[in-house]
Amino acid sequence: MQSLKSVFAILSLLVWISHADAQSQAPETVTAIRAGRLIDVVAGRELTNQVILIRGTKIEAVGGNLEVPAGARLIDLSGMTVLPGLVDCHTHLADLTDLDPLKVLEKTAVEIAYATIANARATLLAGFTTVRDVGVYRAFNDVAMRDAIAKGYIVGPRMYVAGAYITITGGAGAMTGLARDIPLPVDLRYGEANSPWEVRQKVRDLVQHGADHIKVLSTGAVMTHGSNPKSVEFTPEELQAAVSEAANFGLRVEAHAHAPEGIKNAIRAGVASVEHATLIDDEGIALAKQRGTYLDMDIYDEECIQHNPDTPADFLQHDQQLGETQRQNFRKAVKAGVKMSFGTDAGICPHGTNARQFAFMVKYGMTPLQAIQAATVNAADLIGHSELFGSVTAGKSADIIAVEGDPLTDVRLLESVRFVMKEGEIYKR
Ligand SMILES: [Zn+2]
Repeated sequence: MQSLKSVFAILSLLVWISHADAQSQAPETVTAIRAGRLIDVVAGRELTNQVILIRGTKIEAVGGNLEVPAGARLIDLSGMTVLPGLVDCHTHLADLTDLDPLKVLEKTAVEIAYATIANARATLLAGFTTVRDVGVYRAFNDVAMRDAIAKGYIVGPRMYVAGAYITITGGAGAMTGLARDIPLPVDLRYGEANSPWEVRQKVRDLVQHGADHIKVLSTGAVMTHGSNPKSVEFTPEELQAAVSEAANFGLRVEAHAHAPEGIKNAIRAGVASVEHATLIDDEGIALAKQRGTYLDMDIYDEECIQHNPDTPADFLQHDQQLGETQRQNFRKAVKAGVKMSFGTDAGICPHGTNARQFAFMVKYGMTPLQAIQAATVNAADLIGHSELFGSVTAGKSADIIAVEGDPLTDVRLLESVRFVMKEGEIYKR
């Protein structure tokens, strides 16, 4: 009996080895996409009648008269406009979509993990093949989601994650609004830090547990109880500690900031991007331009904060007049030539509606091409992976979308993406 068992074990091992071997030797799929129009976001022009050759997960060649290899899978998008997969630099995929963070207390981490799978899927199917996810209340739910997507357990965009929020105690990224004597589990107060050394310790810890970048909260927030978006939270010393410690591990820092002083503190500290940048003043705009700091301004979500019946009353109070001021400041920053990326704060508006922001970026001073560049080539530059995504170029990941019509004349066409490919695999057609 024992020997029979061993025979079975050996046999199944052999089957497994030959299967693994077959997989590694299988020829990579070659795909040819015929693109009626192709937006070249790097050169800022529209090309016609292009062929995109894809081998496995990568773009192999792009050109007007490429020969399509025999046996290649052919995808005819000759009636469509083809673009690189879009990138949202400010999402919260791994959090509940309730506007009130206290709702997190009603669910276990596992319940939240299951409940948020749909967020990732909706985002990818909307044409966003990559996101920079900038914080989660249950620390490391975002790391788990990123890895689940990468392993193919669930469907979603490529994610770059923060792991948690680094915030002062009671600050914009903290779980606030509870009685003083209610203790929180560690994952709900993970990133609280109250000195430069505590900030460094949090950065080290986040790096150790899989963060791709660091999110700091430089000022108060709209969507946090007991917070004032107009107040400064982290000091310049604490912000500098975050940037310096993150740089030791090759990571970049993004800073949430509404108040003008908090924005300038963050830019001077050397962050890669300022999130929201709501009340940025002329000095802040000049500083961002001079330092090459990206502004990641969520100028659409005001529509969802104001029109959602579930928005808590104190959040509406915080938000008063901030929305329109932010949009006017966006216009100023675009005019001044500051580097701009595309970030929506998705989660405030439903996941998968990210592209609605494009029309607002155009309304407030960008050309459609500039808005598309913010969500492709600029976003890849901000995240630090221009070699991997952000344009339809040989050598990059085959992250490709298509829309009907010409988004350079009507940017709202990006709200109805018809074709989505990520890493050579088709998710929507
Ligand atoms: Zn956010």
